[in-house]
Amino acid sequence: MTATFCSRCATPMASALLGGKERSRCPACGFVLWRNPAPVGMALIEHEGKLVLIRRSEAPLADYWAPPAGYVECGESVPAAVCREAQEECGLEIELDGLLGVWSQADVDVLIVAYAAHSSGGSLRAGDDASDARLFDAMELPSQPPPTGGTATDHWFYGVVAETISHWREARRPARNLRRSAP
Ligand SMILES: [Zn+2]
Repeated sequence: MTATFCSRCATPMASALLGGKERSRCPACGFVLWRNPAPVGMALIEHEGKLVLIRRSEAPLADYWAPPAGYVECGESVPAAVCREAQEECGLEIELDGLLGVWSQADVDVLIVAYAAHSSGGSLRAGDDASDARLFDAMELPSQPPPTGGTATDHWFYGVVAETISHWREARRPARNLRRSAP
């Protein structure tokens, strides 16, 4: 293990038992390095009646189709991060329609907050972290084999993509029925 230094006072960090767990604490100023999963915002975007997916160019799950997603940064809310990432990765301005769910797992260092959304402007194109961006009919989504090898994050993320898409299909069903039965 490489030595780490306190981000406040540059003293080498030491291990300490805090709250029943081994943590990294600065013996000089008491700073504790809490390790928390990083929040990632994701958008399941309806555009022209179809679902927007991007082909990921970066790990985890490189070359797989997935909804646009990215890290939430300090200085922005989760919804603002989702809208920014969508614009960067697929070129669309979006409005959020509601929370689809939150996904996390003990051995993965991110957590995903996924929203249903619809496009409100822009045009579809592959941007940051995406090699392609396309529209998929809800009934003709890409069939993708599970990753072979890969990290715990790859396998977890594969499952999250499948679940968010199925939640999105469930969430839009009532709206469709409503439209159909409207006079
Ligand atoms: Zn310190």
